Amino acid sequence: MHNVVIIGSGCAGNTAAIYTARAGLKPLVIQGREAGGQLSLTTEVENFPGFPEGINGPDLVENMKKQAEKFGAEYMHGAVIEADLSQRPFRLNIEGDWIETRTLIIASGAKARWLDLPSEQKLIGHGVSSCATCDGFFYREKEIMVIGGGDSAMEEANFLTRFGRRVALVHRRDSFRASKIMLERAKANPKIEFIMNTAVTEVHDVEQNIVTGVTLKNLVTGETWRREVDGLFVAIGHIPNTQVFEGQLDLDPDGYIVSHGGARTNITGVFHAGDVQDRVYRQAITASGAGCMAAIEVERFLEAEGH
Ligand code: NAP
Repeated sequence: MHNVVIIGSGCAGNTAAIYTARAGLKPLVIQGREAGGQLSLTTEVENFPGFPEGINGPDLVENMKKQAEKFGAEYMHGAVIEADLSQRPFRLNIEGDWIETRTLIIASGAKARWLDLPSEQKLIGHGVSSCATCDGFFYREKEIMVIGGGDSAMEEANFLTRFGRRVALVHRRDSFRASKIMLERAKANPKIEFIMNTAVTEVHDVEQNIVTGVTLKNLVTGETWRREVDGLFVAIGHIPNTQVFEGQLDLDPDGYIVSHGGARTNITGVFHAGDVQDRVYRQAITASGAGCMAAIEVERFLEAEGH
């Protein structure tokens, strides 16, 4: 029986692990299939306080993990495939192994959203990617396209100019969701071309099993045309990882956990932290802050229960 199980090993999960471990609760962290969360897919993090020169995303989460392990946190590979939160202790199925816990911190984050075109889905890993940091290297001197109008799209487009001959940024509207600084940085980059009011309607070439181009459609004029592209990076936001809790936890229509004050969910003893609940701020530092809040709530809850 665990005192506390933490689902997720991004900033939120790792920070919750540091705090609960330091409180002597011996937390078990379920790392998920993509350990380290979204920061492990980032390059430079320039806005995490305490690192005036910036820090590499994967290094930041790895440091957090080491800090938690120093205080006795345990890490387990794998993902939660089933959960029973109907009574305490809560029960979790980790890829076939059931474990029990008195409290639970859900810090399972969010995963990349796709365009959901059949051709795009078939070509994931064959020229279609959601992670510039992971796959940019394969597109040296190639034609790259990025989809999206948020900070992720700007960041990926900028990053990919290190590799590609040219980066086309395709956005469905004529104004951006991205922050001013990120947008200005992308606009100042001579290797980035902006294609506005435009959507990708098809990715070629499924028959060859490799990306050779896309069909684009101007959403204002209706005009369609084809463009040669070697790599397509989809950067259109994220979906919270809450599927295993559907029907048990209070979720909003997009699947984000609904907060019941502080780090509390609708189930006593189950707490949330980070992007799995936060659709507004979604920053490394806010996720860490939320992990800290959840840990403190767990400590108080267990103490009140006499553990
Ligand atoms: P986002 O802000 O939600 O932006 C998603 C973008 O994708 C929007 O421009 C949206 O278009 C577009 N989009 C959504 N669905 C689409 C579809 N089916 N087809 C075409 N386009 C579609 O997501 P994000 O850029 O991933 O950023 C998420 C959060 O992380 C934000 O709070 C952001 O500030 C933060 N972030 C920060 C940094 C940084 O500071 N270094 C880096 C990355 C992300 P519409 O605008 O038309 O809806």
